[in-house]
Amino acid sequence: NNNNTHGLHCYEFDKHLKGTNETNKKVLRELYTALERGEFEVFYQPYFGINQKLLGVEALIRWNHPHLGLLTPASFLGAAEETGFILELEKWVLTKSINKMRKLYQNGWTDLRLSVNISAQQFENPRFPKMVEELLKEASFHPENLTLEVTERFLIHKENINIVNRFKATGIKLSIDDFGTAYSSLQYLKDLNIDEIKIDRCFISNLEIDNNSQKIVEMIIMLGHQLNLNIVAEGVETEMQLQLLKKMKCDSIQGFLFSKPIPFNHLKKNFFQQMKETWSDNYVFQKN
Ligand code: C2E
Ligand code: MG
Ligand code: MG
Ligand code: MG
Repeated sequence: NNNNTHGLHCYEFDKHLKGTNETNKKVLRELYTALERGEFEVFYQPYFGINQKLLGVEALIRWNHPHLGLLTPASFLGAAEETGFILELEKWVLTKSINKMRKLYQNGWTDLRLSVNISAQQFENPRFPKMVEELLKEASFHPENLTLEVTERFLIHKENINIVNRFKATGIKLSIDDFGTAYSSLQYLKDLNIDEIKIDRCFISNLEIDNNSQKIVEMIIMLGHQLNLNIVAEGVETEMQLQLLKKMKCDSIQGFLFSKPIPFNHLKKNFFQQMKETWSDNYVFQKN
């Protein structure tokens, strides 16, 4: 896993931000330059129904840094958030991924979903809802095919209920990412009209050996179903985890067992080769 090596660099990148306003400006300039030079790239990680039917893809940002190599978000999201660059970056990710999805739709994969991660900062940006609506309209993209993933950090504030409802009214789906890792207040499940919960990888990675994790996951799935939520397990890496999740009636799965996040072209090659012969309804992921 190259996360760690990149994490080191990224840590460096994030660290030199902490200084003065001057360094802040410098980092911001660096990030904008990278965007202008086309160094950012969107990777896509597919996710599946429990029976391995392809349901959609999640957009995940990467930075092809000229000196540091391919950076994962852990190494630069902190800097992007502190400088406010995240607002621009996420707009770019949305635009890019929506346009790529359109290509798949034009080839008949019309029920494929797109999930995009959105920071709390962006959700609280008053211009954000309009921006998304305009993007979707320009691309003739059905709002029902879009899922926005937010973390508990955003949901915890009760006054954000209006923002959530505004998105819900357009047909866009909302998902709680990394569920169980942050404040874990159940209050927002009661107050907010969300569609999906993504159980964090930390509960999945030791599912086989940790009885407590099993109990917690089971409880989240049962609770989620009572509330009519779609439950996704993140970070599924082993066949055993898959079987346990199946037994627990988890709805959807995502993880290295099926696919890592990959560039769009690989996605096409790995999953949509049979584009002409097969429709997504019939397509079930085959492990090689
Ligand atoms: P996330 O949204 O929870 O995405 C899942 C992360 O877990 C991804 O890391 C993915 O590569 C990794 N992952 C998926 N399956 C497995 C597995 O089976 N095993 C292991 N070990 N890892 C797995 P990645 O791509 O490094 O992204 C990290 C986080 O960065 C994301 O977590 C998300 O919170 C954030 N992120 C990525 N793109 C964006 C973006 O455009 N905007 C915002 N705000 N955040 C983003
Ligand atoms: Mg996510
Ligand atoms: Mg997550
Ligand atoms: Mg995460």
